[in-house]
Amino acid sequence: MSRTSFDRLRQLPVLGRVARWGTGPSAVSKETRRAGARVAGLKATESVCPYCAVGCGQVVYTRGGELIDVEGNPRSPISQGTLCPKGSATRQLVQQPGRLTKVRYRRPGGTDWEDLDLETAMDMIAERVIRAREEGWQHVDEQGRKVDRTMGFAHLGGATLDNEENYLIKKLFTAMGAVQIENQARI
Ligand code: SF4
Repeated sequence: MSRTSFDRLRQLPVLGRVARWGTGPSAVSKETRRAGARVAGLKATESVCPYCAVGCGQVVYTRGGELIDVEGNPRSPISQGTLCPKGSATRQLVQQPGRLTKVRYRRPGGTDWEDLDLETAMDMIAERVIRAREEGWQHVDEQGRKVDRTMGFAHLGGATLDNEENYLIKKLFTAMGAVQIENQARI
């Protein structure tokens, strides 16, 4: 069909919205329009999935500071808008009703969990770290080489730690003499 004929046809009310090559508004489905309306008016912030070392791009939608949804970021050169099932469920990291918001502690030999306030828990951890460091400190290895390290504790990070948190954890534990420092996302 020549350009002139097509343009004449578009004058008809029923074909007024049809694009010449079937692109643009005429190619947008009702579903896509509904999805657009769902996120309209929300603040969109680009972020990175916290769960694994792939680092898929995400768009975090909020309204008035409240998290509304997390979707794949089409601008990410790594994931190009896709997320695996775990990344797709990132919103639950914050809003999952079963999320624990208090420190839970089960004493050695205990059968029940108890709530601890954060300050008490931090003191207990600090005491254990200092004791384990002193008891497990090695000045030299089996061949007499100077190592100055502790084998008394290690660190295993969770997959939801971000780059900055992991950077500080590595600094802290290396400074305390630990040599076994890992992250679940790399295992
Ligand atoms: S957990 Fe899934 S979505 Fe998240 S970075 Fe890894 S592969 Fe991507």
